[in-house]
Amino acid sequence: MFKVIRIFFLLLILAGVAIGSWRDKIRSVEWKSTLPVIIYLINADGSPVVTDYLRSLTVDNFKPIETFMRDEATRYDRSSNASIEIKLGGILDSLPPEAPRNGSSIEIIIWSLRMRWWSFHNTVTLGSTPQVKIFLLYFDPAQTKLLGHSTGLQKGLIGRVNVFASQEMSLQNNVVITHEFLHTLGATDKYDFSTNQPIYPVGYANPELQPLLPQRYAEIMAGRIPRSQFEAVIPDSLDDVLIGIQTANEINWH
Ligand SMILES: [Zn+2]
Repeated sequence: MFKVIRIFFLLLILAGVAIGSWRDKIRSVEWKSTLPVIIYLINADGSPVVTDYLRSLTVDNFKPIETFMRDEATRYDRSSNASIEIKLGGILDSLPPEAPRNGSSIEIIIWSLRMRWWSFHNTVTLGSTPQVKIFLLYFDPAQTKLLGHSTGLQKGLIGRVNVFASQEMSLQNNVVITHEFLHTLGATDKYDFSTNQPIYPVGYANPELQPLLPQRYAEIMAGRIPRSQFEAVIPDSLDDVLIGIQTANEINWH
């Protein structure tokens, strides 16, 4: 009998989590007011280089993301409400759970629940909800040459993003952060996973450009500027990036 009651309460809690995240998911793209995006900084390799770098960061380092979203909202004839407000949540000592590599769907669901549980325990939710929480894991570029995969979860509005602790990379980091942030709002990838080439037409910022190639801008969910049929380059900053029509539709900007 106790077992039945326990399972009943467990199911009730899970139903509560599901309803809560469904409600946040809908409300995050209603754009009735500016969406708060809280950025947390994490020293992922424990190095003193990263510690010093994190201390040097202020909210101004991430302001280009806010400007990008506002400019793009204006381009899609949306009011300033259809934008975001970036806040710094500070430096965290704990590392979020690692995402499974090529995990099965059940492994991904379990990881997503663990990630939300970890976020709940390591952060305080202040002010209005919904709000997006982005966890930035910083690595010393002298020690780590290749970063692991970053993830943005629509359920729970959480992003886990790997970036380099380097002033030089700061503007390019903002491109990666914006890409994962838009995943939390339901935007999908628009590049070919086997070649990294943007998919035509949805992954092109200007699919009607004549001649089509080379393109001037990257579509944010394609992540690269198509130069030729077989070559695409990573943009230096958000100045070389636009939000394409399909991504705009996915985040309810139509
Ligand atoms: Zn992606």
